Amino acid sequence: MGKMGDLAFGIDLGTTNCCVSVYMNNKVEIVENKSGERVTPSFIYFQPTGGVIVGKHAQAMALREPRNGIYEMKRLVGRKCDDTQLQNSLQYFPFKVSSDSSNSPIISVKQNNSVVEKSPQELYTILLKELKKDVEEKLAKSVNKVVITVPAYFNVTQREVTFAAAKDAGFTVLKLQNEPTAAALAYYYEMDLQEAHRCLVYDLGGGTFDVAILERRCENVEVIAVAGDSQLGGQDFDACILEYICEQLKDKYGYDPTLDPDDKRTLRQKSEEAKKELSTLDQSVITLKGMVPQHPKIVITINRKQFEVMADKLFNKTIDILDRCLNESKFSKESIDEVILCGGSTRIPKIQEMLAIYFDGKQLNKYVNPDECVAEGAALQAAMLSTSKRQKIDRLEMVDVVPLSIGFSSMCDEMVFTIKRGSKLPTSGSHLYVSSYGDSSTISAGIYEGERTDVRKNRRLATLSISNLTPAPSGQQEVIFTLSIDTNGILTAKAEDIFGENVKELKIDYTGGDRSDAEIKNTLLDAAKNRIEDEKFVEFVKYKRYLIRYCISVVHNLEARKLVKKHKKMYKFCGSTVLEAYLKEMDQESEIKELIEKCKRLCESVVQDCQFEFMPADI
Ligand code: AMP
Repeated sequence: MGKMGDLAFGIDLGTTNCCVSVYMNNKVEIVENKSGERVTPSFIYFQPTGGVIVGKHAQAMALREPRNGIYEMKRLVGRKCDDTQLQNSLQYFPFKVSSDSSNSPIISVKQNNSVVEKSPQELYTILLKELKKDVEEKLAKSVNKVVITVPAYFNVTQREVTFAAAKDAGFTVLKLQNEPTAAALAYYYEMDLQEAHRCLVYDLGGGTFDVAILERRCENVEVIAVAGDSQLGGQDFDACILEYICEQLKDKYGYDPTLDPDDKRTLRQKSEEAKKELSTLDQSVITLKGMVPQHPKIVITINRKQFEVMADKLFNKTIDILDRCLNESKFSKESIDEVILCGGSTRIPKIQEMLAIYFDGKQLNKYVNPDECVAEGAALQAAMLSTSKRQKIDRLEMVDVVPLSIGFSSMCDEMVFTIKRGSKLPTSGSHLYVSSYGDSSTISAGIYEGERTDVRKNRRLATLSISNLTPAPSGQQEVIFTLSIDTNGILTAKAEDIFGENVKELKIDYTGGDRSDAEIKNTLLDAAKNRIEDEKFVEFVKYKRYLIRYCISVVHNLEARKLVKKHKKMYKFCGSTVLEAYLKEMDQESEIKELIEKCKRLCESVVQDCQFEFMPADI
């Protein structure tokens, strides 16, 4: 492997297009594909006679055989077939999507008269392999380290599928980066901005709409709020024009093109061309040759105003979402320093106009190329993670931190702060968990996010249970609980049976990015305000835990030493006290203390004389 082999690349794996970029020798550059284009359509064509074509040619071939032309796989990735968003997409796909045995979508095409089935992940791999091949041919070097971008709303499964597909394509993924973060990074790099700054990324692509508010503090670029619609984008605008053409053909020529999938596909493409033309011209002319019998040539015109009226509702929808995102973040429009446009559909003049009006005439950012900024940001991120000297980058740093602490609930609802807020990613933490009274073959612990010592005042993320534990006396079952967050924002909770081989892992949806700044601030404020109460809670739990442990151990010792009959009163009292203690709240601390006294009066001499084991240390 040559020197290039060390280089790390950025890939924008888009719904409609993919783009590859690299930062090298103090410059960020787009890597063109082998046809010399800066973006590659996310299109795969399965040739009926065998073989697979990817990109622009695949798109062209699919006009002939739409059932074999696969696109917008990103809408299917990591989703189940009963997902309503996936169901929506299915309505207009000309290719066949069915459900496999685990209710996941499977795409089937015909090749050589037999059916070929591919999962969305396999399709992603085909696409990524092609991108890899292209870059390698272009640079005449092998390439494997990459940063791949994903929508901020992607969940753990969608991220994992992307990760796995890239691995299968031969890549080493340094990081999965959120698309708006990448766009902001490209912008901050371009602008060489050092001071604190807040931007809003409006990303309207072919099939999805994303809005994100990001803040730069020192070198750190942080996502503070995201919103979006994964089913809104350029193709919905194409559909408006398509509908108009279909109506014209029906009304004027009595022809219904929707009955023929080939006609539909042709018209869809013509609609997109017309839409793009209307971004620069006032009028677009659509010419249809040989489609309608008895009308060898049909000309339909559409002007910009007409298009704007047709798509008005959709345009407004993006503004509503943006408005909601701002409201949720509790930031005013005025506090946004810059609006960054990204995604091909932001070239539509009406969209730019609506945004300018919304932001009271604020200049929209035109420094960033809307098709390329996400890939450029990924390339910058890749350079930051690269070890290659040629990719040394010192103008910018991207540090992801944990915005709020994460931990497990211990016995008595106390928060164990396993990962402290502000920890730099990747990070992890562990703690030993000793089972409580009751079923000793299973241990469960809630996983919470927040700063309060009482978990019930924090946000619950998930529950981790481990069962089939190695038998041990109730109260002495020990499990190591570990939490780790990787650089991709995937939170993994692990439980390990200390005495056995048993390990249970749980991946949790956790993108620090979906917590708004206001939410974080409120959480911190709330914790600061209640500091004294929280300290009291910890103190109270100390007594409560002592009482429970004491009683559990007495019960266990009496059982183990066959002393139950002899000390029936003690046994009964401790058994019922455990249950009673669990229910006690902070304002009942004195009752807990009284119970401790009572327990000790009743049991302590036996505990001492018989040298009971596993008794808790005195407080
Ligand atoms: P992206 O997913 O960011 O690559 O954006 C692709 C979308 O941008 C497609 O729906 C294109 O039709 C749309 N697009 C590209 N150029 C233009 C343009 N000049 N005017 C309107 N839409 C455009």
